[in-house]
Amino acid sequence: PPTARLDRLLANLGYGSRREVQGLIQSGRVVLDGEAETDPDQRIYVKADLALRMTVNGEPLDPAPGMVLMLNKPVGVTCSHKETGALVYSLLPERWRRRDPAISTVGRLDKDTSGLLLMTDDGALLHRIISPKSHVPKRYQATLARPLAGNEAEVLASGTLMLEGEEKPLLPVEMTTVSPTHATVILHEGRYHQVRRMFAALGNHVVALHRDRVGGLDLPDDLPPGGYRILDAAGIAAVF
Ligand code: URA
Repeated sequence: PPTARLDRLLANLGYGSRREVQGLIQSGRVVLDGEAETDPDQRIYVKADLALRMTVNGEPLDPAPGMVLMLNKPVGVTCSHKETGALVYSLLPERWRRRDPAISTVGRLDKDTSGLLLMTDDGALLHRIISPKSHVPKRYQATLARPLAGNEAEVLASGTLMLEGEEKPLLPVEMTTVSPTHATVILHEGRYHQVRRMFAALGNHVVALHRDRVGGLDLPDDLPPGGYRILDAAGIAAVF
């Protein structure tokens, strides 16, 4: 595993400036394996289990660099660093927004879409999931304005549906009917507003959209809207 100087590690996790965290360390408020670690130059192995072994001011260390979390995104918050208004980043602890490398969303969900959103500070992992070559399946529950006509699943599976303004047909989409106005769809690509535009192309209109699975990872039933959970190695592996 990579090593990092303790003061740099804590500064990059957002605990303060280099000087501030040096003060924190020297005053004995950083504890590793039950003992105060008072040397800011101490090199630390940065592993996922660090949060279980280190405390700062008596609290478990924030997730070590290389973290992935899942958030149950509520409707009405935006997946952007730039826009004003309610951002998904505001749902995380304040200090986590000062991390370097920063935590980013893995792709995006629309402001009006809810459900499973991954976030990470790991650029390589981010790329593996969102690159156009990645076909990690994503499952959505779509509530529709009008009853399904009956041929939608067939059209979506055919790989011939064109979205307005695009030149390539969609990859095949698996659709199952839950009720006349509720469909489950599984996408293997992620075009802009794809589910909404797909049902528009089919003459319908999506009134609510919720993502409940990415790869083999399900949104847990007990994770409330706005709640998040750090993934362990098995959780991360389940995505691919
Ligand atoms: N498709 C959409 O239309 N919106 C999303 O947020 C995700 C997929």
